Amino acid sequence: MHVVVIGCGLAGVTTAYFLRRSGAEVTVVDRAAGPARETSFANGSLLTPSLADPWNAPGIFTRLFKSFGSADAPMLMHAKQIPGMWRWGLRFLANSRHQKFEESYLHNTRFAIFSQQTMAEMRAETALDFGYTDSGILKIFEEQSALDEAVKVAHWLKQVNIRHARLDVDQLMETEPALQPIRDRLVGAVHYLDDEVGDARLYCEALHSLLSENQVNFRFSEQVLDFELKPHGIRAVRTPSGRLAADAFVLAAGSFSRGLAGKLKLGIPLVPAKGYSITVPVSENVPRLPVVDDTLHAVVVPLGGKSLRVAGTAEFAGFDTTIRQERINNLIGLLGRVYPQVDIGGKGLEAWSGLRPMSPDGRPILGGCKLDNLFLNTGHGALGWTLACASGRVVAEQTMGEALSYDITPFQLSRF
Ligand SMILES: Cc1cc2nc3c(=O)[nH]c(=O)nc-3n(C[C@H](O)[C@H](O)[C@H](O)COP(=O)(O)OP(=O)(O)OC[C@H]3O[C@@H](n4cnc5c(N)ncnc54)[C@H](O)[C@@H]3O)c2cc1C
Repeated sequence: MHVVVIGCGLAGVTTAYFLRRSGAEVTVVDRAAGPARETSFANGSLLTPSLADPWNAPGIFTRLFKSFGSADAPMLMHAKQIPGMWRWGLRFLANSRHQKFEESYLHNTRFAIFSQQTMAEMRAETALDFGYTDSGILKIFEEQSALDEAVKVAHWLKQVNIRHARLDVDQLMETEPALQPIRDRLVGAVHYLDDEVGDARLYCEALHSLLSENQVNFRFSEQVLDFELKPHGIRAVRTPSGRLAADAFVLAAGSFSRGLAGKLKLGIPLVPAKGYSITVPVSENVPRLPVVDDTLHAVVVPLGGKSLRVAGTAEFAGFDTTIRQERINNLIGLLGRVYPQVDIGGKGLEAWSGLRPMSPDGRPILGGCKLDNLFLNTGHGALGWTLACASGRVVAEQTMGEALSYDITPFQLSRF
C-alpha cells in the first residue's frame, strides 16, 4: 500500500513513522526545503498533558473583546480578520460553555497521556535524540487567589490521573533554585509532575533521518497544488513536478490543511493563531524546570542546558507570520520578570513566529472523512507536540485499515 503524506511537520513526519512501521510504502511531500520549517520549528517544547485545556475557557469573549486596540495583549484579535472568521468564531464561542469546555479539556488530557505512553515506546524503539527531559513543569503565582484557583484545577485533573504537588515558597526554591531572585514576589506554585520537554524541530529532523534510511521517500520543496479525484476518493496529488498517485493520502499541512481540503470541497474549521518564541543562549545558573506564566499565556523552558526558550501569546492575524517587535517585547519582558539574572542583551537572541492550526473546540481533527482514502491529521492548535505521537499512531492505523489503539470519536471531523 502506497501512502502520500502531505506535510512534514510534527503531524506528518510522525504519521509517516507509524505508517512505515506498519509496512506501508510512504512518500512525504512538503513545500519547504526540509522537515519542521513551519509551526513545528521553534515551539514551546512542552509535552504537557497538564496544559491540555482549549483556549476558549468560559469568559473568553470578554478577554478577546478587551484585547481590541491593545497591541501587547496576550491574546489579540485583529479587527480586519473578523469578517473571514465569523463562522469559526461563533463555534469557538459556543464551545466556551462550561460543559463543552470541560469535555474537550478531558478528551485532550486523556489523549495527551496516551501520546506520552506512545512516545515512550517510540523512544525505546528508536533512541531518537531530541533533548528529551521529564522534570515536570512549574506554574508559579504572585497572587494567593490565583494559586488557590490553580490548585482547584489541579485537583479536578486528578480524575484523569494528572499528578501534581502544591509547593510553598521554600519548597519552590528547593525545586527550582534559579527562581531565588524573585522569591519575595512569589506565593507558591503547582508542580505538575509528569510533563516533559523535547525540541520539536530536533525530533522531526531525527525522525526524518531515521525514515530516510528506512525507504521513506521525502520530496521537499514541492508544493501540493491540487488533487486528481476518482469515484469517492483521491487518485493523485498534483505538484509542479507532475502527478503523484497513491492508494491513500494523509493531510497534515497544519494551518494550510483548510485551504487544501477546500479544493476537495471538504470543510475543515481551522484558523491560524499566530504565536511567537524567543530562544536565548544561557551559560550559567541555567534553570532546571519549565515555568508557566498563566496571565501572559507564555512559558519559559530550559533547552539542552544551553538556552532558554520563551514561547506563547496568541494573535489572530490571518496567515501573516511577520515578527512584530511588541510581541517579542512581551516575551523578553516575561523572561526578565521570571529570571532577572539572565543577561538578554540581544546577543544571539532568535525570534520566531508560527501559526497554530486552531479548531473551534480546541481538539485535533483526526481520521477519515467523506473521501474514502483521505485521512486527516491536523487542528492541534497549541498541542501539536503534546499530541503528535498519539495522533500519528491512530491516523496511521486507520489509514492501514488496522484496529485503532485509541477511540478517536471525539476528534473526528464529523463532530462539526
Ligand atoms: C509559539 C508556539 C508555541 C507552541 N508551543 C507548543 C508546546 O509547547 N507544546 C505543544 O504541544 N505544542 C505547541 N505548539 C503547537 C505546535 O507547535 C503545533 O500544533 C504543531 O507544530 C503543528 O504541527 P503540524 O505538523 O500540524 O503543522 P506544521 O508544523 O505547520 O507542518 C505543516 C507542514 O505542511 C507543509 N505544507 C503546507 N501546505 C503545503 C502544501 N500545499 N504542499 C506541501 N506542503 C505543505 C508546510 O510546509 C509544513 O511543513 C506551539 C505553537 C506555537 C506557534
